[in-house]
Amino acid sequence: MTEDYQIPPECMQVIDRVLYTPEQIQQRVAELGAQITQDYQGKSLLLIGVLRGVIFFMTDLLRAINIPVEVDFMSVSNYSPEARERGYVRLVKDLELSITDRHVLFVEDIIDTGLTINYLLQTLRARQPASLEICCLFNKEKRRLIDLDLRYEGFKIPDYYVVGYGLDYREKYRNMPFVGLIKGDILQNNHKPGLF
Ligand code: 5GP
Repeated sequence: MTEDYQIPPECMQVIDRVLYTPEQIQQRVAELGAQITQDYQGKSLLLIGVLRGVIFFMTDLLRAINIPVEVDFMSVSNYSPEARERGYVRLVKDLELSITDRHVLFVEDIIDTGLTINYLLQTLRARQPASLEICCLFNKEKRRLIDLDLRYEGFKIPDYYVVGYGLDYREKYRNMPFVGLIKGDILQNNHKPGLF
């Protein structure tokens, strides 16, 4: 229960409300790992993540999967609001492994409008993987601009800007073990719902 969770003293000044405790996250990640283990029995699976927000989720999910898997990462640049609206993303670091004829699971920390992942999926599909599915921990479904089929989903969340468990605000707060909302005076005018 989030009400029983004690926010660590060093986070008190930053966090307004805890949305998911470390225990709740671990529980859900374990369930996702078990489901993936079952679905990919006998298949050679490659997990792909986009740096850096996905690092916590990826490492926990990997440990929750009980079949041999491989892992690789990409990195994309921050985009201007204009480029973002058009769905443009600049690939800063590409995969090192080939995905052709591989079963690929695209692991995402959070999906908002879906524009970023949509662009990356198009790039990956062109490389002709045997299959390409999405596993997302936090899904801001209401904000979606693109139709996406999420094979695995951790939690549906409302249109809040969340931090922790790998998710940052201006590169900070990734290391918090829980996921929460940051206080309004920290976001101030920097973030209105849907703008960041
Ligand atoms: P999309 O292209 O789906 O609109 O945006 C996806 C990216 O925006 C995520 O990979 C993440 O980097 C960032 N993002 C979206 N919502 C949040 C949020 O609530 N918190 C944080 N820290 N990043 C977010």
